[in-house]
Amino acid sequence: ANDRVFNFSAGPSMLPLEVLQRAGAEITNYGGSGMSVMEMSHRSKIFLKIFDETQEKFRKLLGVPEGYKVLFLQGGGTMQFGMIPLNLIGKTGQADYAVTGHFANLAMKEAKKYGQVTIAASSEDRKHVYIPAQEQLKLNPDASYFYYCSNNTIEGTQWQYVPETGSVPLACDMSSDILSRPVDVSKFGLIFAGAQKNLAPAGLTIVIIREDLAGQELPITPAIMNYKSMIDKDSMYNTPPCWCIYMLGLMCDWLEQQGGAAGMEKINQKKAQMLYDVLDNAKLFTVSAEKGSRSHMNVTFRSASEEMDAKFVAESVKAGFTNLKGHRSVGGMRASIYNAMPTEGVEKLCDFIQKFDKEN
Ligand code: PMP
Repeated sequence: ANDRVFNFSAGPSMLPLEVLQRAGAEITNYGGSGMSVMEMSHRSKIFLKIFDETQEKFRKLLGVPEGYKVLFLQGGGTMQFGMIPLNLIGKTGQADYAVTGHFANLAMKEAKKYGQVTIAASSEDRKHVYIPAQEQLKLNPDASYFYYCSNNTIEGTQWQYVPETGSVPLACDMSSDILSRPVDVSKFGLIFAGAQKNLAPAGLTIVIIREDLAGQELPITPAIMNYKSMIDKDSMYNTPPCWCIYMLGLMCDWLEQQGGAAGMEKINQKKAQMLYDVLDNAKLFTVSAEKGSRSHMNVTFRSASEEMDAKFVAESVKAGFTNLKGHRSVGGMRASIYNAMPTEGVEKLCDFIQKFDKEN
């Protein structure tokens, strides 16, 4: 077990060792069933128990109120870019989008296929290194929903507030910060997240939807992309990602042990602060995101030259860290420090950065 590296991948990302070990121990024979969870019918009693318990644990951790449905889907965050407008834009034919990074931009482009999209805010003027303030949002009262991405995985920025949009429901991409901090779910119409960063292996996408928002889909909506059919069939309109749901259940137990979303937030804040402090005090590095908009999940930084960046990345690999190279679209470095990254991993990275900074 100790041959594991400190993996700073942006996603799929590391999972806690305890979670992997538990899954490993149960992999050939789950709970005396004589089979792996991977081999179970999704309609079997034993799997339905896993499904229901995972739903319950997840709802409790996130604080999902009555009137909201939690869906366990496939298709990733990217499928939600299309699924949201297909299901929600029909109400008025219009939607507001805050474009604060690569993935919000993709979502906005997808929505344009199905209705009239207004850019309610954009951080493109400064290469997405900040999050616009509430006063900067240009809100359309006739929008069917207001879309934003709470954590911009590539750019390393994170919304530190929940936008106020009056009666226009919020649709939020929490792919890279779900359950890393508490959220008031009742402020949202819809939340979605690919599970592969903070929660589980790739293949599971979680959607939390206020039930009254479903059922207004455009007639062209594919059945598998229809929230209403998924609600009516309890996420089993077709085969759900069974193994990933089971893994989410194990992760929920682990998160509960960390003190839930509030406990996780404290740990995550501490980890991020440590790293930002070291980077701000280093002579070689600058943090990409502006203060006040910095992400607690993806810490993006760079040196003055691509050569020095490459040297840093190469030496980090030799020192036992992986995946510190920034996204190919922005370059530089990125340390993704999701829920499962232990404080020890961040401390070791801080030491490495300080040593590198001194030696170069
Ligand atoms: N939204 C965000 C914030 C992301 O970080 C990603 C993937 N890194 C996506 C959406 C796309 O997710 P997927 O690859 O699961 O489709």
